[in-house]
Amino acid sequence: MTEIPLQQHLAPSGEQMTVRDLASCPPPERWHDWIEYDAKAWPRKVEKHYTIIPTICFNCEAACGLMAYVDKETGRVKKFEGNPYHPGSRGRNCAKGPATINQVNDPERILYPMKRMGKRGEGKWERTTWDEVLETFASKIRAAIVEGRRDEVIYHVGRPGHDGYMERVLAAWGVDGHNSHTNVCSSSARFGYQIWCGMDRPSPDHANARFILLISSHLETGHYFNPQAQRIIEGKMKGAKLAVMDPRLSNTASMADYWLPTWPGSETAVLLAMARIILIEKLYNYEYMRRWVNWQEYLGAEHPGDPQTFDHFIEVLIDLYAEYTPSFAARESGLAEEVIVDIARQIGHAGTAFAAHTWRAATAGNLGGWQVSRALWLLSVLTGSIGTPGGTAPNAWNKFVPAPFLKPSPSEVWNELLFPSEYPLANYEMSILLPYFLKEGRGKLAAYFTRVYNPVWTNPDGTSWIEMLTNEEQVELHAALTPVWSETAWYADYVLPMGVGSERHDLMSQETHAARWIGFRQPVLRVYKERNGEPVEFTYEANPGEVWEEDEFWIELSWRIDPDGSLGIRKYFESPYRPGQKLAIEEYYRWIFENSVPGLPEAAALEQLSPLEYMRKYGSFEIPQEKAPVFNLNERELKPSDLKDTQVDMASGTITRNSTPVGVAIDGKDYEGFPTPSRKLEFYSATLKEWGWPEYAVPSYIHSHVHRDAINHDMGEYLLIPTFRLPTLIHTRSGNAKWLYEISNANPVWIHPTDAERIGVQTGDLVRVTTEIGYFVNRAWVTDGIRPGIVACSHHLGRWRLETSQGTDRWASALVELAKVNDGIWRMRHLQGIHPFESDDPDSARIFWREGGVHQNLTFPVHPDPISGMHCWHQKVTVEPAHPGDAYGNVYVDTKKAHMVYQEWLAMTRPQTQRPDGLRRPLWMIRPYRPAASAFRR
Ligand code: SF4
Repeated sequence: MTEIPLQQHLAPSGEQMTVRDLASCPPPERWHDWIEYDAKAWPRKVEKHYTIIPTICFNCEAACGLMAYVDKETGRVKKFEGNPYHPGSRGRNCAKGPATINQVNDPERILYPMKRMGKRGEGKWERTTWDEVLETFASKIRAAIVEGRRDEVIYHVGRPGHDGYMERVLAAWGVDGHNSHTNVCSSSARFGYQIWCGMDRPSPDHANARFILLISSHLETGHYFNPQAQRIIEGKMKGAKLAVMDPRLSNTASMADYWLPTWPGSETAVLLAMARIILIEKLYNYEYMRRWVNWQEYLGAEHPGDPQTFDHFIEVLIDLYAEYTPSFAARESGLAEEVIVDIARQIGHAGTAFAAHTWRAATAGNLGGWQVSRALWLLSVLTGSIGTPGGTAPNAWNKFVPAPFLKPSPSEVWNELLFPSEYPLANYEMSILLPYFLKEGRGKLAAYFTRVYNPVWTNPDGTSWIEMLTNEEQVELHAALTPVWSETAWYADYVLPMGVGSERHDLMSQETHAARWIGFRQPVLRVYKERNGEPVEFTYEANPGEVWEEDEFWIELSWRIDPDGSLGIRKYFESPYRPGQKLAIEEYYRWIFENSVPGLPEAAALEQLSPLEYMRKYGSFEIPQEKAPVFNLNERELKPSDLKDTQVDMASGTITRNSTPVGVAIDGKDYEGFPTPSRKLEFYSATLKEWGWPEYAVPSYIHSHVHRDAINHDMGEYLLIPTFRLPTLIHTRSGNAKWLYEISNANPVWIHPTDAERIGVQTGDLVRVTTEIGYFVNRAWVTDGIRPGIVACSHHLGRWRLETSQGTDRWASALVELAKVNDGIWRMRHLQGIHPFESDDPDSARIFWREGGVHQNLTFPVHPDPISGMHCWHQKVTVEPAHPGDAYGNVYVDTKKAHMVYQEWLAMTRPQTQRPDGLRRPLWMIRPYRPAASAFRR
């Protein structure tokens, strides 16, 4: 094999890739004919010729670059490796990237569209045609649109894998029908950021930080696992210190200088104590805070009789947080006082090079979890490290979503099933409550699409989802668009096979570091055919079986909904290059690359390529910083033309046009600022106050539903952490990746040795874990890697199927019996664990793992946070040795109790239906799919 050192490649951001970063890589000029020796032919030297085609990994949200090696002899993909020209991943991948090849070759994969024959969930399927599928859905959706039932069409997505495409489709249809998985994932974390700065994710510049604080284990898992992990290690190698708050000794915590095993939910208390130390010891960034925090608004509203000066604001802050002493935080969290003080000082001294990140973890587990990200951002504000080199930017500053051609107007409809009146501030749709809303008669679904989404298995109270999906009055027509069988697909009317990551187009951009880039996911076998001069009209012509890509599905469906253009839909799916003709998917991306990506046409021209050819060749592009700067964007000055017809509020400096904030005047200059009502960082949130939560107008500490006072160990109670991820598995899509299951195939309950002794169990013993609505039986794993009083169970495992050879992949699923034994009572028991099976892949006969995990989420009721809408995952449970008759994998659930718990949490909300302005939601708050402003009013 010829090993060629990676060429020096200077990324536009100035990040230089060297052989230190990657030992070797095929140079692009040889990607058309790359030669490697056949390992199986050793010791003979037999050449294999490959075409290398870049694409994007779809196995988590990080969107790392992959290179598909297509064997020229067979025309099949041989393997996937990292793409060194991808700005985020720089040639590296985690285990899940190369495992894409398992997904391509999975003998269990669905290759043809399937239609149910019996009742929903009976497991009787027959192959159907795409034509039949498209006609069925087109007529159903067209009827809903024509009859004004625009809230009855819902597209419910788990992993989108694209930026903006579906929002455009739904807007073209004029429906308010985007639903997501976000409130089982990140609604709370997002809300804490949004309420500060109008943008809802953090983007740390780890590589240049002096101190890094993580509240989660994302160094080892998602958001954005591999790209951020490599930069955290770079930062550490340059001297940065790393602290990780996590009650579990995750791989991330094991790499840290400080492992901070806080009691879950107490993180806010610790962060506010750190903030107080930074204030008292004058380690804060005086000028940054004076200029960019909305302290004038706060003092004016809450302390009108006080001196309206910044210095007085600091005094008020110190007073406000007086109770957050190190000893208070230590009592709440279980950390040592000295450690809290030490880390606070190091954060203060890191100043503008303090990088911080939280995702899932504490924010996703606790009632009021959004105060964790809000308090964490307070530390970034105090240090003036927002959007600085080595600091933490709002995500939108490091992400680039190019505009497509012909944008539809937003729909005029508001869907109460998605954003009901009880949750006016919810950050993303109230997705987990759909079964309860339909049960209560709040609406029905005429056409329901689940896409890479498996709520029966992923969401809390999955059996309520089964009850919903099997009710044909509540859900009239359901298609599961999926690359792999799932527990949810089992209850659909149609199962529609969609391409895995290397079988479809998409455009990705993620805030992996201080830069902006786009990545082009492309169907590699289609590109391979086209490189060989074979014309391909639709991607399914190149994919295995009749596996489609979603983009083309939506184009075809939209044409059939509006065949003559009379509904005004079809025009959005006509070619921008061939008027009146149906859009070809290549044209959609071609137009974007030619018109919407700054610097791309010029970079392509340098290589005598069109922008599309450039993206087909490299698979990604980093936007030059002179065209898309990434630091301190709030400091961008407004131009005189931006100030036309504006007014300035003299007290706060907020600049408005027609009552809409557009900028802020500070020290005599006019700046763009942040997309908040004040255009500043909102320490004080008038929004929270006006929308019913005055006690939370400033960052404060909310006692979690699993606060330590709520857990009585003497009664056998523990706090269960069900949120953590295994770095080698994909939420609900690993079942088709045999290598990943070979690595990780059990989710035992982590128990500290002192607790194990008290309960009387050892590693491997069965335990019964009882929640508010049921119980599950799993094995114990006794470990010092969890703090006492807490137990933990990974949410990745416990897949199941109901038929011997159909349903969820046999690499991953146990055969179970799931029975509704009484009104609302469900029982699951394992009939057979994972076993070897015969298939085209000889490895399927070599499976050695047996149990495959336990499905704990079935036993969780919904806990929607009354403000953010986030499902608060942590559970108060009892843990005891298994009862006589208990067996591994047993699950018992009472959905009536689940409904009662839903009602208890619903009662915590404060609906704002009588507002004089008629608003359903603050106009300034983002929505993933945003209807017209008129729809925000009742
Ligand atoms: S970090 Fe995510 S995107 Fe990157 S290789 Fe792993 S699974 Fe794929």
